Amino acid sequence: MKKATRAAAMKQPKGIPEPVEEERVAAEESELDIFELPVLPVRNTVLVPNIVVPLLVGRDNSMKALDEAMSKDRTVFVVTQLDEEIEDPGPEDVYCVGVEGVIDRHLKLPDGTTSVLIRGQRRLRRIEYTQEAPFMRARVEAVKEEVEQTLALEALTRALLALFEKCIRLSNLLPDEVYITAMNIDKPGWLADFIVSSIEAPIAVRQDILEAFNVEERLQKVSILLSKELHILELESHIHNQVQQEVDKTQRDYFLREQLKAIQKELGETDPTMRDNQELREKILTCGMPEEVRVRAQKELERLFAIPSMAPEGTVVRTYLDWLVSLPWSQATIDRLDIKEAARILEEKHYGLEKVKERILEYIAVRKLSQTMRSPILCFVGPPGVGKTSLGRSIAEALNRKFVRLSLGGVHDEAEIRGHRRTYVGALPGRILQTMKTAGTTNPLFVLDEIDKIGADFRGDPSAALLEVLDPEQNFAFSDHYLEIPYDLSKVIFLTTANVLHPIPAALRDRLEVIELPGYVEEEKVHIARQFLIPKQMSEHGLKPARIEIEDEAVRRIIREYTFEAGVRNLEREIASVMRKVARKVAEGRRTKTKVSAEKIPDYLGPQKQFYGQAEDEDEVGVATGVAWTSAGGDLTTVEATLMDGRGNLTLTGQLGDVMKESALAALSYARSRANEFGLEPRFYEQYDIHLHLPAGGIPKDGPSAGITMAAALISALTKRATRRNVAMTGEITLRGRVLPIGGVKEKVLAAHRAGITTFILPKRNMKDLEDVPREVLREMRFVPVERMDSVIAVALHEAPLSVDVDGIVHRDVENKAAQRKTGSRPLVRNAALPPPVRDRIRAGGAVTNDS
Ligand code: ADP
Repeated sequence: MKKATRAAAMKQPKGIPEPVEEERVAAEESELDIFELPVLPVRNTVLVPNIVVPLLVGRDNSMKALDEAMSKDRTVFVVTQLDEEIEDPGPEDVYCVGVEGVIDRHLKLPDGTTSVLIRGQRRLRRIEYTQEAPFMRARVEAVKEEVEQTLALEALTRALLALFEKCIRLSNLLPDEVYITAMNIDKPGWLADFIVSSIEAPIAVRQDILEAFNVEERLQKVSILLSKELHILELESHIHNQVQQEVDKTQRDYFLREQLKAIQKELGETDPTMRDNQELREKILTCGMPEEVRVRAQKELERLFAIPSMAPEGTVVRTYLDWLVSLPWSQATIDRLDIKEAARILEEKHYGLEKVKERILEYIAVRKLSQTMRSPILCFVGPPGVGKTSLGRSIAEALNRKFVRLSLGGVHDEAEIRGHRRTYVGALPGRILQTMKTAGTTNPLFVLDEIDKIGADFRGDPSAALLEVLDPEQNFAFSDHYLEIPYDLSKVIFLTTANVLHPIPAALRDRLEVIELPGYVEEEKVHIARQFLIPKQMSEHGLKPARIEIEDEAVRRIIREYTFEAGVRNLEREIASVMRKVARKVAEGRRTKTKVSAEKIPDYLGPQKQFYGQAEDEDEVGVATGVAWTSAGGDLTTVEATLMDGRGNLTLTGQLGDVMKESALAALSYARSRANEFGLEPRFYEQYDIHLHLPAGGIPKDGPSAGITMAAALISALTKRATRRNVAMTGEITLRGRVLPIGGVKEKVLAAHRAGITTFILPKRNMKDLEDVPREVLREMRFVPVERMDSVIAVALHEAPLSVDVDGIVHRDVENKAAQRKTGSRPLVRNAALPPPVRDRIRAGGAVTNDS
């Protein structure tokens, strides 16, 4: 029996005849499948045909509707609410398409609600409501499934099944049986309904599919829904895989680490990272940090404990803390301000350097009297190997302070001084703090070596950072980029060293008190070797005095032929190499004492390595002897001038710098302006080409101090008056023939002395510089202070030209020789004209001549 008929039958109590009109309508309706049912509104779900769903019914009117259905043919019209929030829905609050639901099971629960199992049957469309209270009743029409068995429908069905299979494979919620059920459904419309009921979809979408009466349309809608679902499932699965991998790895690591811990515990060991962290904690408490640093360190430590032990960030924090605890914060040595002891140490370790030692003792004396006074920063300036750094070491020893040294040579980057910020990979504190760590005390003696070698470029100016280091007003809170906490450098004694003064930036130079260490003469070097270098090298090579003796003459030969320096560094190196050879012989079994004499030196050190400029062998025309300053001390330089027939061209060779070239032009102009006095033809320069050359041609030279030498060589060539071979000169020349002062007098005088020069011409205003020249040298040489070029010519050149006979033999006339003798012996100035210190140091025999 058709349900509608049944329903219609139920409407009327049995036994009562039905009116004709109603019968007719009922007959029509049964054809159309229209009947009346109690309405069961549901929320959050859309019932579909052929599916059984459990429902919990609690609302009063719904229960009444169920009761009514139960009392009849157990059938209800199940429709979904438009808005799930509505408690008591009326006709306009529910969709108009729903499903015919047969109540399979009906259970009243103790809490007053009812649990039912409802099986969906056909799609129903509501025609009208016949009753609203106490529950809704509606007249509904069963919807006919519009299905046309086309190929397209077949294809759609298969595609849908395939999609569904993929979804099931990816979804964890859908069991495989669902697919098997789906496969066995032979009606496409039913299949679509089944699939919708098994996947997640919003109520509106479900309702939309329910309302798709055309099966093909329904299949399409479900396909779209399924594709979306598949896409989401794929994404989900991808994310899930990733998460799973991550979780797996973390779990694995965790597991392994736990195992490791357990093993270590069994073995009585603790996790090294934890142990390190604990150690850090103790060090922070015991290393004497100031309070604010400790607070910072504690904070970092807490961070460290929160970071997993293997995380790279942990290493960064740990390194930082390591630095904090290893820097000296409160450890200090107690100063020994004993001047006698200091004097003893300086005397014991350093030969000569009287002025320097005196200044150092004054420095210590001032520190002793006034602890608060800001001491000046000493800067030792001098060529390499004159003992600048070792003096620093001795001062540290005298003061009982730790000695540390930082070489600034080639530091171009401010970050090298101040460090890199911690955000950089592998960042470290700057070199100042690194050196402080080495010192281990807050008050070391800190030598900043080669302060003249720092350079500034795009990476910042290190001298700015150095200023902060050296400035007592600022250095109590020196800021290092890495440390981020101010560090107190005010207790440090800074010493600086430099080879030359001029490259030091002016701002920095202003803070330094310069002490010059100009270099040693040969005798001083012999002393230093005998007293210091040889004993030091002997002990370093494990040689007893009974095994080796190096004679003074041998040392002298090493100095002359194997080294070219103002200091004694190479000398020490050569002595060490002699020692090595002797040590080998001793180790091989030699029992007798080895005497190293001058003759044996080439056996130890090979052939002569250095050739100094030496005085010329003869007085010659067109050659003048100058002296040059080099960083290794002074050296003799010869200037050669030659004339050729020509048109007045001047050629300059020998790699001369601009200043030197201009100097040569000035010399030539001077010669031209004095042509008359020198007995030259007025237009001589139009007849000759002049060539000036300064050997050695391979070495670049510059500076104005060869001016008078070039003029002398030129005038000698022009006048054919020979220059005296034992005269050396230095000075700048002006166009009017004035001689201006130059630098490096001491080194130049020493070089001239070494080369066998006996007369030294120098600008008058440089006479004061002779104060630094050792006494022996002052005694053995004659100094001629000059103000004008004429005086240079008078001293350096013979008075008469040389004559050459037909055989090419040079004759000096008698008058010439007499003049030479005269100038060589007559003191031209009274010693009273010299600055008193120089005068005092010159003893009898050391003649000083003047041009006046
Ligand atoms: P610098 O720093 O000037 O380049 P160093 O201090 O390194 O020179 O000295 C080089 C070597 O020469 C050291 O072994 C040092 O002991 C030695 N030395 C230099 N001058 C003297 C001196 N006056 N007395 C003793 N030894 C010296």
